[in-house]
Formats: sequence, C-alpha cells, structure tokens
Amino acid sequence: MLTVQRAAQRNAARRMREANMLLARWQASRGMASEPGPYDAVIIGGGPGGYVAAIKAAQHGLKTACIEKRGSLGGTCLNIGCIPSKAMLNNSHIYHQTLHDLKRRGIDVKDVSLNLPQMLKAKEESVVGLTKGVEFLFKQNKVDYIKGRASFVTPNRIAVQLNDGGETEVEAKNVIIATGSEVAPFPGGGIEIDEEQIVSSTGALELKKVPEKMVVIGGGVIGLELGSVWSRLGAQVTVVEFLGGIGGVGIDEEIAKQFQRSLQKQGVKFMLNTKVLSAEKKDGKVFLKTEAANGGKEETLEADAVLVSVGRRPYTKGLNLEKIGVEVDNKGRIVIDDQFNTTAQGIKCIGDVTFGPMLAHKAEEEGIAAVEFIKSGHGHVNYHAIPSVIYTHPEVAWVGKTEQELKAAGVQYKIGKFPFTANSRAKTNLDMEGQVKIIIEKETDRVLGAHIMGPNAGEMIAEAVLAIEYGASAEDIARTCHAHPTLSEAFKEAAMAAYDKPIHC
Ligand SMILES: Cc1cc2nc3c(=O)[nH]c(=O)nc-3n(C[C@H](O)[C@H](O)[C@H](O)COP(=O)(O)OP(=O)(O)OC[C@H]3O[C@@H](n4cnc5c(N)ncnc54)[C@H](O)[C@@H]3O)c2cc1C
Repeated sequence: MLTVQRAAQRNAARRMREANMLLARWQASRGMASEPGPYDAVIIGGGPGGYVAAIKAAQHGLKTACIEKRGSLGGTCLNIGCIPSKAMLNNSHIYHQTLHDLKRRGIDVKDVSLNLPQMLKAKEESVVGLTKGVEFLFKQNKVDYIKGRASFVTPNRIAVQLNDGGETEVEAKNVIIATGSEVAPFPGGGIEIDEEQIVSSTGALELKKVPEKMVVIGGGVIGLELGSVWSRLGAQVTVVEFLGGIGGVGIDEEIAKQFQRSLQKQGVKFMLNTKVLSAEKKDGKVFLKTEAANGGKEETLEADAVLVSVGRRPYTKGLNLEKIGVEVDNKGRIVIDDQFNTTAQGIKCIGDVTFGPMLAHKAEEEGIAAVEFIKSGHGHVNYHAIPSVIYTHPEVAWVGKTEQELKAAGVQYKIGKFPFTANSRAKTNLDMEGQVKIIIEKETDRVLGAHIMGPNAGEMIAEAVLAIEYGASAEDIARTCHAHPTLSEAFKEAAMAAYDKPIHC
C-alpha cells in the first residue's frame, strides 16, 4: 500500500515538474522569466508610462509583467512620437543650417543635397535602438514581456490575444492601465486621413518626398515641430490655427508671439483665427476650404500634403472596461483619484489615457508614483512642475504659471527677463534669438513660472523645474554659481532681473 502511495506521489510530482517545464519553455520562448502563479503587478501598455512602471515594480521586488500589443516597446513616444520626431528635427536642422548658416561661420560646403531615404533610415535606427534598449531593460530587471492585446476578463484576470497567435490569461494582484492615446480625427469628420497625402503625425514622419506645399491643420506643439521639419527640408508650409495664437495650452502669450515671428522669418506662414472646413483630393493635390473662426471670409488653400494635427485622444479600445466597472469621462479619459486608482478595485491608471498633459515624462512620473502606491501606500507627482518643450529652432520651453494665468487668478507677481543677445555663449555661437522670462511671487520671490525661447531651452528648463520643485526664490538661483560661458547664465541673469538687476543687460 505504501509503495502504491509513494508511486502515486512520485507520478504527481513528475507531472508537476513536466507542467512547470512546459510553462518555463513557453515563457522562455517569449522572453519571459517568471515562476507560475499570479503576478504582483501587470501593466497594460509598454509606453513611457507602462514600461517605466514595469521596471520600477520589478526593482521593488514585485513579480511583474507588461503586456504590449505593438510588437515593440516604448509606445507612441519611442515608435511614432517623441523620438522619431526629434530625429527628424535634429537632422533637418543640420541640413537647413548647412544650406543657410555655415557660410558666415567660415565653412564652405559644396553640392549639399538632401538624401531623404537616408534621413528616414537614420530616424528608424534611433527608434529601433531605443525600443530594443527597453526590451533589454525588461530582461535585466526580470519583467515578463507579453506581446499581445490585453482585455479584462475580471478585474484581476486579463486575457491576451498573443501577437504570434493563440490566447493566454494572466492573473494579477494589481493592474496598471497605461494604454496611452491615439491621433484624434478631424472634428466633425469630413477629412479622411490616408497617411500618404493627408497625414497624421505618424504619416508626417514617413513622407517619401518633400511636398512643395504643405498645410498643417493645428498650430500646437506637434504641428509646429513637424511643420518645421518639412519647411527646413524645402516645403512651403502654412499653419492654419483656429485660435489666435500658436504653441497650444500653457504657453506664455508673449513668448508665443515672439516664437511665431521667429518661425515666420524661417518661412512658415500662419493663418490664425481660421478654421478648416473640408479637404478634397483632386489631380494629385488637396484643396482645403477655410473660413475665419468667427464666420465669414472663405478661402481655398492648395496643398501637396496636409498634416492633420488637432490633438490626441485616450485609447481604451478592446480593454473591456465596462465589464469590470472602470469609469471613463466624456472625453474618453479613465477616471482616477489622487492615488491613480480607477473605479475598479486593484486597477490603477497612468499616462495619456487619463487626465493631465499628454507628455512622456508626465506618464513616466505617474508610472513610478503608481508603483510606489502599490508597494508602500505613498507616491507623488508634482503637477505644477511638469515642463513642456517645443523642439524647433529656437526651442521653446516652459514650466509653471504663465503671466496670463497669474493675472486671471489675481496673483501679484514680478518678472525678470534676459535676452540671449546679451548672453556671451549665445553670441559666440551666433545663435541669439529669444529670451529667458522668469515669473516670481511679488511678496516671497518664489519662482512661479519660467518661459524660455532660445537655443537649448529644452535642456535649460530643467533648472526651472528644479527651482519650482524645491520652492526656490529668484535670489536662490541668482546666487547659485553658473559656469561661464554657458547659455544657462541667461537663466541666472533673468533671476537677478526678477528680484534685483542683471549684470550684463
Ligand atoms: C509626433 C509626436 C511627438 C511627441 N513628442 C513628444 C515629446 O517631445 N515629448 C513628450 O513628452 N511627449 C511627446 N509626445 C507625446 C508622448 O508620445 C506621449 O505623451 C507618451 O507616449 C504617453 O505615454 P503612455 O505610456 O501614456 O502611452 P503610449 O506611449 O501611447 O503607450 C501606450 C501603449 O499601450 C499599448 N496598448 C494600448 N492598448 C493596449 C492593449 N489593449 N493591450 C496591450 N497594449 C496596448 C499601445 O500599443 C502603446 O504602445 C509626442 C507624441 C507624438 C504623437
């Protein structure tokens, strides 16, 4: 009897070992490393919000999986957003500078020509390098990467349609939704994006030739960056914007006007307070009907390519949110509380798919904070200190309050400005357009906002973010030693100007 029992136990143990081996082989074939059983954390979406959350969760010792359907990690940002657009901005700037700026610097170049396929390839190489890099980080941190489309079965069971066929289910103690956003269609319909002639930002990163005339619908960050790219490469670009100014939400009005003048000097045309009514493709061209935003004057614009850049919207398709009681607001954003909890138990949400600015670094901060809430019950994102950058040339960057916001709120403030024409490094580099503008609270001198247009503004804004995060005063910045000669001295001088007087202007 004892022998029979032992044999049965041995058989059961063998069957268990075989099952585990099969599971391990299946996981290994997908680059997964975990033991079976429920995950401590499953993250849906491998964009900057999701992948950062996954790595942080694993670093905290949580058994973690990240489900991503795209086939590569990094989300919108690395695949079709921040990274490819910056690659094109950088290389189109070099091309433009080579054509128009090198001579005065004592560099004569001959036979400069654009090799667009190579420029697109260089962009692709940056994308592949970085997305593979995230995959490597997953392996290094032992995050299971499940390639497929996730859909909730219950709040803690997720079905995944695997990219290479079949379906699996994972169980999770905690879930973080980080499914991001997608291109918003033209409001009211009427303009169909074909991604060849009428393109979204995705198609605008892939145009096979430089259009002679390009119309950009929407003068926000993405429209201006991509409009700039094609303008530098030779297109005649017209930006049509419904509002009376460019740069989108949060930009300081004074800086926006200065920025518009700068882009106009570079050849970009603007039609403000104008709405696009329709677009018709005919004889290889696109004809756009526009009228003044408050009605009246109609005009037809002809274009070889049109970029529809009217914003992005949260992406929740196929998640089955209704089934598990996750509430969504009237703009499609997943509703969360101040600890990133959705309305369903055990499910948090971060990034573009919920409230706040649609920015990669905001999604990343939320990813870390959400994990910290899971791990320790504490986490924090300072939404007053999220920088914005427009990566044109000159760059525009800002953080904190604008003058118009402070006026509207009745806050007493002071301003310090410093132009790059008075900064030694900018002068040395023959790159002097723009200024630093710092806004401080009148009574305390605390920095409330910083707005920069100028070379490398996107790097310089980090100092302003730190100042706001630490509650620094203008004097704190002004008494901090800044290396000479650097552009950052303009930041120090603007701080001096805010509470006292600058030295160099
Ligand atoms: C042209 C362009 C330029 C930009 N430039 C900048 C910039 O310079 N700086 C900046 O901060 N931001 C920039 N952004 C915005 C930035 O890309 C987003 O804010 C950021 O990617 C949001 O991160 P996320 O993780 O919330 O979502 P996403 O990056 O959108 O990632 C979400 C991921 O979830 C996946 N997913 C969705 N549903 C499922 C599902 N059911 N199952 C599995 N996977 C799913 C998607 O495939 C996607 O990969 C730019 C955007 C664009 C379009």
